[in-house]
Amino acid sequence: MAGEPQADCVFCKIVSGDIPATVVRRSGRTLAFRDINPQAPTHLLVIPHVHYANAAELAAAEPEIAAELLAEAGEAARGEGLESYRLIFNTGADSGQTVFHAHVHVLGGRKLTEGLV
Ligand code: IMP
Repeated sequence: MAGEPQADCVFCKIVSGDIPATVVRRSGRTLAFRDINPQAPTHLLVIPHVHYANAAELAAAEPEIAAELLAEAGEAARGEGLESYRLIFNTGADSGQTVFHAHVHVLGGRKLTEGLV
């Protein structure tokens, strides 16, 4: 069923505590933790507890949680002392998405490249 935990999903396992993560922030419906392979001095992932394949599917099905995800990304960035940061939502394999549980990357702590790709 839509939103239900998936047995083979690494982020569902982080939500359930079956896989450890360095959690920096929690809300009732989201979790923010450090990316295991950081691409910048600060690289967080913010995920909803519920399982949707990507952020667009989350927003279509549960817009309040998608809004909470964005707000939490901003709060997590603030908690890291970032005034400037980049949010990335990879969507689909050709975009580079490798984990098919909705998430937003929060990147900052250095000057990021000006191009988008
Ligand atoms: P994607 O490429 O947009 O799907 O991003 C998935 C991200 O999840 C990548 O940046 C990975 O480094 C990160 N990742 C995968 N497994 C783990 C984990 O167990 N803990 C923290 N980050 C992870």
